[in-house]
Amino acid sequence: MSDYLLPTYARYPVTFVKGQGCRLWDKEGKEYIDFASGIGVTSVGHAHPEWVAAVAQQAGQLTHTSNLYNTEPGEKLAARLCEIAGMRGAYFANSGAEANEGLIKLARKWSHDKYGVGRAAVLTLEGSFHGRTITTLAATGQEHFHKFFDPFTPGFRHVPAGDMAALERQGDDVCALLLEPIQGEGGVIPLDAAYVQQAAELCRARDWLLLMDEVQTGIGRTGEWFGFQTLGVKPDALSFAKGIAGGLPLGGILVNEKLFDVLGPGDHGSTFGGNPLCCAAALATLDILTSIVPQVTEKGDYIRGRIAEMNLPDIVCTRGRGLMIGIQIAGVSLRELNTKLLEAGLVGLTAGTDALRFLPPLIIENEDIDAGLTIFENIVKGERT
Ligand SMILES: *Cc1c(COP(=O)(O)O)cnc(C)c1O
Repeated sequence: MSDYLLPTYARYPVTFVKGQGCRLWDKEGKEYIDFASGIGVTSVGHAHPEWVAAVAQQAGQLTHTSNLYNTEPGEKLAARLCEIAGMRGAYFANSGAEANEGLIKLARKWSHDKYGVGRAAVLTLEGSFHGRTITTLAATGQEHFHKFFDPFTPGFRHVPAGDMAALERQGDDVCALLLEPIQGEGGVIPLDAAYVQQAAELCRARDWLLLMDEVQTGIGRTGEWFGFQTLGVKPDALSFAKGIAGGLPLGGILVNEKLFDVLGPGDHGSTFGGNPLCCAAALATLDILTSIVPQVTEKGDYIRGRIAEMNLPDIVCTRGRGLMIGIQIAGVSLRELNTKLLEAGLVGLTAGTDALRFLPPLIIENEDIDAGLTIFENIVKGERT
């Protein structure tokens, strides 16, 4: 435990020192199964040999030049991401919150260019999570994030998810609707595809941009490269981060043709954003995941099926898609349950107010899945006795 790190996290009393595949080891040498991936980040597991080789190679060649110059990994990665998402252009930042800041600036600039001032409001959903900066907290539709840090950036309104009438009531000051395909931090709550399709239709009719926060759902997590690809709609722009670079900090946005040149020279930037090291890590991550993403749906269904078969009376339901798994559990403290899982050797997460969350590395195989689920079953059963 550090006496010097600010207490901004209620850290679990474990110090991890090593990872390999879907396993972690603490400094006492105890082994754990990783169902958290560092909150959906280490999508190719720990120390994947191809990823390590790519990062080591790039670290020895060129790590940073700033965005004043071209670099090959960044150019390659932009092209690759546009290809898998069917988008036109990419901008790189360092985190999810920063990527969402980019989306918000993009939407406001687009609307300003086209309609002038007074059309800058961004709609987001109740229960959403978009980041920890002052602006992305304003975008986040959860009241408990809106204490202490006033004044927030104005121009955000939160509407109930699934409520088309609430969207239709919005006035002509709106420039965009921003949503997560599955609300992650809010509790692993998928949006109804019919609702998203109707919302996309309304966006077209009102000329609002449809923006998707794919920071958690992106890069294969839900069984497609991006969550929107499971919903039968296409956003005008999206943000990504967490799983993109297999553990190094990288985020960014992808935009369609009409938004390609909205942000011009000097309108937006980031010193570290898209540096060659993080982009090389992301290219290796995408290479590794190309054969893995088609298996993600099956792996996730297997986990949900195994949990259903356990017939544990406290489990209300499982939610999510692919390897983004929420388990709604009644009558327990999630924090205490997750601590017990950790003590028993399973690293999990919580989400929202009622769910345990599993975001295992996408490369996980049945052997590790089964080992993790056995720990889970024993601990949840033990809660009752
Ligand atoms: C984690 C997350 C963010 C914030 O990402 P950071 O990298 O922590 O800034 C934003 N949106 C969603 C949907 C997230 O899951």
